[in-house]
Amino acid sequence: MRSFTFYERVSRAFNDYPSLSKFLVVFTVSGGGLVAYAEANSTNGAPAIASSESENVKKKVVVLGTGWAGTSFLKNLKNPTYDVQVISPRNYFAFTPLLPSVTCGTVEPRSIVEPIRNIVRKKHSEVQYCEAECYKIDAENKKIYCRSTQNGKEEFVVDFDYLIISVGARVNTFNTPGVEEHCHFLKEVEDAQRIRRTVIDCFERASLPNVSEEERKRILHFAIVGGGPTGVEFAAVLHDFVKEDLVTLYPRVKDQVKITLLEAGDHILNMFDKRITTFAEDKFGRDGIDVKTGSMVVKVSEKEISTKEVKNGQISAMPYGMAVWSTGIGTRPIIVDFMKQIGQANRRVLATDEWLRVEGCDSIYALGDCATINQRKVMEDISAIFSKADADNSGTLTVKEFREVIDDICERYPQVELYLKKKQMSDIFDLLKESKGDDTKESIELNIEEFKSALSQVDSQMKNLPATAQVASQQGVYLANCFNRMEECEKNPEGPLRFRGTGRHRFRPFRYKHLGQFAPLGGEQTAAQLPGDWVSIGQSSQWLWYSVYTSKQVSWRNRVLVVTDWTRRFIFGRDSSRI
Ligand code: FAD
Ligand code: MG
Repeated sequence: MRSFTFYERVSRAFNDYPSLSKFLVVFTVSGGGLVAYAEANSTNGAPAIASSESENVKKKVVVLGTGWAGTSFLKNLKNPTYDVQVISPRNYFAFTPLLPSVTCGTVEPRSIVEPIRNIVRKKHSEVQYCEAECYKIDAENKKIYCRSTQNGKEEFVVDFDYLIISVGARVNTFNTPGVEEHCHFLKEVEDAQRIRRTVIDCFERASLPNVSEEERKRILHFAIVGGGPTGVEFAAVLHDFVKEDLVTLYPRVKDQVKITLLEAGDHILNMFDKRITTFAEDKFGRDGIDVKTGSMVVKVSEKEISTKEVKNGQISAMPYGMAVWSTGIGTRPIIVDFMKQIGQANRRVLATDEWLRVEGCDSIYALGDCATINQRKVMEDISAIFSKADADNSGTLTVKEFREVIDDICERYPQVELYLKKKQMSDIFDLLKESKGDDTKESIELNIEEFKSALSQVDSQMKNLPATAQVASQQGVYLANCFNRMEECEKNPEGPLRFRGTGRHRFRPFRYKHLGQFAPLGGEQTAAQLPGDWVSIGQSSQWLWYSVYTSKQVSWRNRVLVVTDWTRRFIFGRDSSRI
């Protein structure tokens, strides 16, 4: 019998008993602080269905992409009755929230990636991986067309029973001239590595003896376009890298370094609480990072960035040495093509229903950044809801009748629940009362018109989910759980009532649970906005950030590597070699 190494024993223990990994306690020696973070990602321990009969009729599930959505689907899929094929040009998963740390060598690139074959190896069921990109989806014939990314020549076709599209998004340049040619992006691991090399290149070039003062200033001007979380975090880590490491290594040029953050809106981090935005702007001001808000980039040339002031339309140009473009995401060409095919050409993003099924394609699912959930409006179904609720067919709805279906309504249309909460209505009685103006409880009876007016405002509560790793990974877990219990739920549907049809939906619809978000601002200061508008800014949030990001790594190997990198940085500083 082979003896296990310590690492194998530990990692097996965590794989076999996922509850062990639920609590990761990171001991930190920051003023004696101790931070505990409970990993909120629950894995459903649905029993694996294994029957000799089902072995013969294995349904083929094809997963496109190995990002947050695809990997979380794959990791949580426990039902061995599927034949799973993963297709992605990237044979690893990348922990994108730490990409900004890679740009300055705080964390090494290999520490934040996990080979997809490591993940596949741990699956009890059959999973195949192909390093290729899908270039066409044929929804009608249930086929996808793929080509190898190594030489682009080898092409093949894959059949599927179910297709999971999780190809993410592309960078959006808004067709700004010169951006593709001259700007760096920060989307992939390779982008972060390129940025790291370019930063060092700029410092080395500026240190050459024959470079003029003016040229030196240009070379050491780092421009970041986009004041969202990625742009802000990159500005912060670059500032730390310069102040903590590079000024001592390049003392001759240290006074010429300049970092500018350009944002077209009125404020940076505008998706965060106002307190965080103000703190970030003030901190950047103190750090000497030039934040130019209301400034839209209109053109980028080899050495200059042209901006237009939103207020007065004035165009000006500024010389730069390195520019990083981080302004948002767009739809990938393969998805645009697919949308045309299925009659969604007039939409901006691929639409799915609340069960993540692509609208109009029953066996195709889309999750993560490449799709958006098209939440059905209450007003579209109002008549159907009314007649289903009116159990005695009296043409009117009593409080009692409404109460019978309210849970189903709230589950099918989450905007109703949000509306009740927002208006601080304790129950459905308040909602009915508001439209009727009569407060004798049981006497309230509504006809269809009154019912419509009671619910007329609820659809205004609908919001699209943000394009984040949090959403993508929760969707992956949700969909895997649906696939794990497909047969079970086929027999005993657990979803809400079908208002426009009969019976119940097979599954509960996807519900996003927001766990909060971070904005690292440099100098060991992080802003955290947690559910319930709880805001915390400072060093304690930085330690929370460390522990959350450690616990969220996809493997124990990554956790160890990332913590080691941080420790190395604390002791020796960042490495400035240009490799
Ligand atoms: P991705 O993770 O982008 O994965 C897409 C996958 O599809 C990749 O494997 C790709 O190779 C593959 N693919 C592409 N084209 C094809 C094709 N034609 N065929 C097959 N496969 C294909 N979110 C947070 O919640 N918190 C953060 O702190 C955070 N920080 C971020 C920092 C940075 C620098 C960046 C860039 C993003 C950050 N995000 C963060 C956002 C988060 O990374 C995305 O929302 C998330 O990656 C979306 O997951 P996804 O699976 O949809 O797409
Ligand atoms: Mg009735």
